Amino acid sequence: MMASKISTSIQIDTVNFASRLIAWQKMHGRSGLPWQGIRDPYLIWVSEIMLQQTQVTTVIERYGQFLRRFPSLEKLAAASLDEVLAEWSGLGYYTRARNMHRCAILLLNEYGGLFPEDPKVLESLPGIGRSTAGAIAAFAYAKKTPILDANVKRVLSRVYGVQGDLQSKKKLDELWDLAKKVLPKNARSMPIYTQAFMDFGATWCTTRQPVCLMAKKTCPFISSCFAFKNQQVHDLPQKKQKKASPEFYADMAMIFYENSVLLVKRPPDSIWGGLWCLPESPWIPYETTAEATAKATVKVSKMKRRVISQMLKNIFSAEELDSLTSSAQEFQMGISLQHIFSHRRLHIQTWRIDLKELPKLNDRKLIWAPLAQLDSFGLPQPIKLLLREIAT
Ligand code: SF4
Repeated sequence: MMASKISTSIQIDTVNFASRLIAWQKMHGRSGLPWQGIRDPYLIWVSEIMLQQTQVTTVIERYGQFLRRFPSLEKLAAASLDEVLAEWSGLGYYTRARNMHRCAILLLNEYGGLFPEDPKVLESLPGIGRSTAGAIAAFAYAKKTPILDANVKRVLSRVYGVQGDLQSKKKLDELWDLAKKVLPKNARSMPIYTQAFMDFGATWCTTRQPVCLMAKKTCPFISSCFAFKNQQVHDLPQKKQKKASPEFYADMAMIFYENSVLLVKRPPDSIWGGLWCLPESPWIPYETTAEATAKATVKVSKMKRRVISQMLKNIFSAEELDSLTSSAQEFQMGISLQHIFSHRRLHIQTWRIDLKELPKLNDRKLIWAPLAQLDSFGLPQPIKLLLREIAT
């Protein structure tokens, strides 16, 4: 057994790590995931980007659907951003879809439609970070390059006892060094090894129920795992202190004319950038439900025109607003919804406005979307839910 030294001064066995993981994969690795065993960098790239912030069960459903719509890099690059966002709708973290579209165009224009083999070059492309570049290079080209996703960080920190805040630059550097040290000798093993690391972290060395504490399966690292030997399995990796998520409130207008609803395109650099949304008020810090309800009631009974104006003044010109408010035949408080983002919560109160005639609207970022065709628009998930509620 050979030991090498890393900056934590932990003496570690890095030699047998890869072979144990590969042997484990052959016996216990996941099988049947639609992106497994693939060597086509386009298909790998799509799966890696989807899996970044979306659960495997959801990706299984959506991966095939995305590839049926955009079966190749060329088809993705030729599509409009609107089409890509519409296909991505519901998966969240829409920057991923925007970057994929940019990346596809760039690859087509500057790389002859081919994914580079060099992980450093891959990493320079839009939306491809170091770990994703490593995964593409390992799966598609069997390059000896590490990955460092959340599963890999957890396994490494437990097996080798990496303490401290794993998000800090120092610890990240340490983990990357370690991830490099434990790579298999033979580059041909890279695809199975990389899949093994992902699968082992996702199914055996899990956050809450690692197999070593369940006494049902024998972990291949049990004899040397730092966390197990030192009874620190639940302490590693070190948990981040969770801050309370800030809460916001926004009014949103559901403006209907006949069987269509008015949608507005969000600016590209905002939350839900580039997606179609309902016209909305600025987001303000959320007050207690009782206060908000009391205010809302006052809004409905006394301030109809002013509410419309306040909610919509950032979107419509004075002339358009006049036209809108004068053609509103009905105005009612609509459904409300809470949407949880990764770091914030949004309380949405909708206001239903039915128009008796079409107002004059000049803004090209506005569109009357037929309720029967909402699926062809890129809509954020909560807006989709709100409109489905109305349309069904
Ligand atoms: S012994 Fe437990 S903590 Fe260590 S690698 Fe195995 S499952 Fe993970």
